[in-house]
Amino acid sequence: MDLSLQYQDIVDAHARIRSFIHKTPVLQSRTLNQLSSATVYLKAENFQRMGAFKFRGACNALLQFSDEQKQRGVVTFSSGNHAQAIALAARELGMRAVIVMPQDAPAIKIEATKGYGGEVILYDRYTEDREAIGRALAEQHGLCLIPPYDHPHVMAGQGSAAKELFEDVGSLDFLIVPLGGGGLLSGCAMVAKTLYPQCTVIGVEPEAGNDGQRSFASGSIVHIDTPKTIADGAQTQHLGKHTFPVIQQYVDRIETVSDDELVAAMHFAAGRMKVVLEPTACLGLALVLRQEQTYANKRVGVLLSGGNIDLIRFCELIEQQQNRSLPTKVA
Ligand SMILES: *Cc1c(COP(=O)(O)O)cnc(C)c1O
Repeated sequence: MDLSLQYQDIVDAHARIRSFIHKTPVLQSRTLNQLSSATVYLKAENFQRMGAFKFRGACNALLQFSDEQKQRGVVTFSSGNHAQAIALAARELGMRAVIVMPQDAPAIKIEATKGYGGEVILYDRYTEDREAIGRALAEQHGLCLIPPYDHPHVMAGQGSAAKELFEDVGSLDFLIVPLGGGGLLSGCAMVAKTLYPQCTVIGVEPEAGNDGQRSFASGSIVHIDTPKTIADGAQTQHLGKHTFPVIQQYVDRIETVSDDELVAAMHFAAGRMKVVLEPTACLGLALVLRQEQTYANKRVGVLLSGGNIDLIRFCELIEQQQNRSLPTKVA
């Protein structure tokens, strides 16, 4: 089948964006290795500019605008990190950026988007169609629409994260990647299977929104209502027409984790590694923390996708879980 993404696009994207992005570190934790009986390499995109891998795809897309498109500017819809990524990339390139965001997006993400110079337009994610709003704005203002995941230039940019990881650590038995709409997973899976065909690629979704898993199993894109999960970066309703075929071809399986497991993984990363992760970024880490024999004695790459969470919210999530797990007092 003809895919809209080729490996060379990811190589080109990486060269194009290299001087704009951070080369993020690869972290290791002895405790994590002991718990999982594996050698785990964590690609820390929480340390990427604006706090998530999404800056890679945004840069790659905007850098390919024509002069006329650059003059008019960009519009997008996003629950947060893509919004910040587009706003920052647009500012770097001296472009206008209009961002359609859900009213209930984390305040820190809305503020950050405005802070990067984005013009924010809010909508109700449970009743309004963000894609329609984005398209209408594009038409009215002559803006070029860059969606958060379903665009070959975005997918190619996100794939550069896995390319860097493999350049640093060499071959892996497993690559585990958070899955929302599949921009990150499609790009990373293509890199993994091109460089190391024996590497098993796993996408991880929140349990409450396993549309990707169902799509993968059924062979056609499953649409769901906006899932209720703390993983706000993966509250997507469906995979994309560009991302799905790549995922079908290059991903081995899709797993899910619960919100409780995400909080436990956030707690682990902060407590043991002094690394602050947002819930969505913990999808892969939470899977490894299940300590399944699958990964024993294997070399495992895990993508930590971002660290944008309000610290008060972070503390609340940890505290709620602690309180629930306290033994109830006997009178
Ligand atoms: C967007 C995002 C994801 C999911 O990426 P997709 O390309 O939509 O699959 C995962 N983690 C974080 C932190 C994100 O911002």
